[in-house]
Amino acid sequence: MGIIKIGPSGMGGVKEAEEILEEFNRVKFGNCEVAFTHSVYMNKEQAEKIGKLAKKNKIELSIHAPYFVNLNSEEKAKIHASMQRILKCCEIGHYLEAKNIVFHPGYYGKSKDKEETFQNIKKRILEMMEIIKEKKWEVELCPETMGKINVFGSIEEISRLSKETGCSFCIDFAHILARDKKVDYEKIKKLFSQKNWHCHFSGIEYTEKGERNHINLKKEQWKELFDNIPKDKNITIVCESPNRVEDCIEGLEVLKGR
Ligand SMILES: [Zn+2]
Repeated sequence: MGIIKIGPSGMGGVKEAEEILEEFNRVKFGNCEVAFTHSVYMNKEQAEKIGKLAKKNKIELSIHAPYFVNLNSEEKAKIHASMQRILKCCEIGHYLEAKNIVFHPGYYGKSKDKEETFQNIKKRILEMMEIIKEKKWEVELCPETMGKINVFGSIEEISRLSKETGCSFCIDFAHILARDKKVDYEKIKKLFSQKNWHCHFSGIEYTEKGERNHINLKKEQWKELFDNIPKDKNITIVCESPNRVEDCIEGLEVLKGR
């Protein structure tokens, strides 16, 4: 049997960290994804301190890297800046003891050539993995499955990246629904045979082009998720809905009642 952990995205500011982590422990959350989506808002010392507090409160941390990333940009400077942003998260993640560093890999280039995009992103991931190894940072790169059809990050592309580079991954079920119009759990299980899954979950509104915005979850959606995810894996579920704390509490209740 694997272990399922549930927790929200967002921990809040450095000053509130202690109080929030204690509260998350009290309501039995297993994890929390620190949102560096707009900036990496803590330094090494603060990260070490918060990492210890998380451990004390039995909260596994992960990081969401800045949105402003494109590993397939036409401009070299933008690729470099994107890598620097992800690597900064890796450095702080090492001190936070946040193993999984989630990021949006990039866009299909002007040519819209999917294979070329894949190869470019793969190359950048391998370069970052080399640096992570050199620096001895204990983190894993997790490119995320993306919710818009014109953005790189189908389940097949993320699975292939993981297989060909050895990087980890983030399975965002809401994004998969918005992109593919259904969640094919059997296919996902085949594509991601690894023991540990890092996942995102929320309700979602979408059009034929994919994701529009995240919405709150219903009990039935938690039930459907638990009915379909594999039982033999360790699965960390980060809830990204607007009412993420309440939704996580409901998810835990649904899980407990099974
Ligand atoms: Zn994301």
